[in-house]
Amino acid sequence: MRAITYHGPLDFRVEEVPDPTLVAPTDALLRVELAAICGSDLHVWHGRELGADPGTIMGHEFVGTVLETGKAVTRFHPGDRVACPFTTSCGDCFYCRSGLTARCERGQLFGWVEKGKGLHGGQAALVRVPLADSTLVGVPADLSAQTALLTGDVLSTGYHCAVQGGVGPGSTCAVLGTGPVGLMAILAARELGAARVFGLDMVPDRLHWAQRFRAEPIDARTEPVSQVRALTDGRGVDVVLEAIGSASATSLAFDLVRPGGTISAVGVHHEAAFSFSPGQAYDKNLTWRIGRCPARHYMEALQPLARAHQAELHAIFTHTVPLDQGPEAYRMFAERRDGCVKVALQP
Ligand code: ZN
Ligand code: ZN
Repeated sequence: MRAITYHGPLDFRVEEVPDPTLVAPTDALLRVELAAICGSDLHVWHGRELGADPGTIMGHEFVGTVLETGKAVTRFHPGDRVACPFTTSCGDCFYCRSGLTARCERGQLFGWVEKGKGLHGGQAALVRVPLADSTLVGVPADLSAQTALLTGDVLSTGYHCAVQGGVGPGSTCAVLGTGPVGLMAILAARELGAARVFGLDMVPDRLHWAQRFRAEPIDARTEPVSQVRALTDGRGVDVVLEAIGSASATSLAFDLVRPGGTISAVGVHHEAAFSFSPGQAYDKNLTWRIGRCPARHYMEALQPLARAHQAELHAIFTHTVPLDQGPEAYRMFAERRDGCVKVALQP
């Protein structure tokens, strides 16, 4: 089959690789209908995350149709249309039962194989899904492939960011980074009743997108802290939804949040130290919450929201290209060329 494979930073290739096969009786094989490139794939592209084996198949965002199931799979059958979260989960361990499927004791991330261990991704014609019964989610016929795909990561992650931040009726929020996850965080904050949602970015095109998702755009290049304070009685916002994942984003989040407020971070962080000191946090009565979204926990519950906003969700797919053009699409996405927000790949 054809797949996009990792060979080092800036070196992703389209290759012919062996078809995956069922390994465990709880596995399912999917024929991928649509895959996507995620902002977190760019950490691998740019070499900020190292260690994947050459030949690892990329991608953790995909939807597809069940092709074959292991003997122990009972909930899904060949022909079923399914969405998949970006990690597998058993549904039965302490973490799964408490809703933190991202930390499942048996969980694995798609698109990461290291020293022979791990899971190949879904930027391919076929993908093997372990723990299929508890990982996969059925997709009703009226949900498009694009919409279903977003429930598996970007929509769930944006929604989780708002929930983790405690956004509720009347909240004032600042969303840092109005790429795909940030746009979903804007949508979620509005859905949860936020009174004001500011969308901050340094890229003018992304500020237009923030506005399109009905946030108040704020250019992060021009004194964003004083702009936000001026709009919040000098206090800062109740909640910062941080969808970037960098030391400078954390610093800005700290400056934007009001005393007693919450920073909720879902951007993938690689720094070794905090951008603010324990003393500064104390002096602000800060709550700071961070971590990988338990997407599986949200996926079914978010289908009605996804259905209601299907047009907006479709709009963020600015580019849809054949899988064979994947490496070029990565380059375009990484350089934010051609107004690229999100890329879908068709196997
Ligand atoms: Zn993703
Ligand atoms: Zn589990």
